[in-house]
Amino acid sequence: MTDAAISLRGLEKTYAGGKRALKGIDLDIPRGSMFGLLGPNGAGKSTLINILAGLVNKTAGTARVWGFDIDEHPRNAKRAIGIVPQELFFDAFFTPFETLELQAGLFGVAPKARRTMELLRAVRLEDKAHVYSRTLSGGMKRRLLVAKALVHNPPVLILDEPTAGVDIELRQQLWDYVRELHAGGTTVVLTTHYLEEAETLCDRIAIVNRGEIVANDMTSTLLATAGDKKLMVTVDRDIAEIPTGLGERTEIVGERRLAITYDKRRHQAGELLAAVAAAGLMVVDVSTTEADLEDVFLELTRA
Ligand code: ADP
Ligand code: MG
Repeated sequence: MTDAAISLRGLEKTYAGGKRALKGIDLDIPRGSMFGLLGPNGAGKSTLINILAGLVNKTAGTARVWGFDIDEHPRNAKRAIGIVPQELFFDAFFTPFETLELQAGLFGVAPKARRTMELLRAVRLEDKAHVYSRTLSGGMKRRLLVAKALVHNPPVLILDEPTAGVDIELRQQLWDYVRELHAGGTTVVLTTHYLEEAETLCDRIAIVNRGEIVANDMTSTLLATAGDKKLMVTVDRDIAEIPTGLGERTEIVGERRLAITYDKRRHQAGELLAAVAAAGLMVVDVSTTEADLEDVFLELTRA
């Protein structure tokens, strides 16, 4: 537990209106991981992040950041994380340069230790260093917030829906930079509802649904435990009818092609191919596709 970057126990949040946004979250985010917090809108992701940021008060439970309890050692806990909030919120009348300098001041970073231009370069805003922030595009603002989250060099970087409003090309640049930070040892936590993003970027993923963690595992394990697999079979003659023993989710998708969707926890490709052969069809080609994260996600967040 002490080696977790973030450790939550029984974390609860009920908003003033009575909305129970977090229902007892237990979660350990390992140091050094690239961790995805995935869930549909309204699942509670921002609530969780905002509790860590000190923007929302939890109703019950404990939260530790880099070993520091957020109630007992709030300053240390805050210094250990940099948070890029979901909402683009900052003073439009400061320049990016000033924004970072101010933030560094707030965290007590000595002028000599500041990395303002280095950070602006890193997020490719060096040529915008001295323009008013309100003239920046959505993607630039997002990247400025990433730089702002990093001024105190925190070991943990948390990004809440970082690619909302960021165009594809800049999204790629943002991820390149985040990957670089991660390679340099920074623990990265990102919330997203873009499944592909979590799937390709994160080594571990927790899925949140209605204020509860419904899955938490290595990305590869999550994908491997996904139930469905699809077998595409091409045979040597036209298919008159679906051979028996292939299940209800088999379709004829071409004159000589079958798409067999099956639960790999219950069936093996071999027995399905045997059923095809038993129907007098000769298999000339086979391919399979694994379930992707979307399948897992839909399975786990189904009403
Ligand atoms: P996510 O970030 O996963 O989309 P949120 O944490 O923003 O989810 O929201 C979780 C739930 O809490 C939602 O039902 C949302 O409407 C509710 N909620 C969020 N913020 C507030 C608030 N300030 N007051 C009342 N309800 C809120
Ligand atoms: Mg959110």
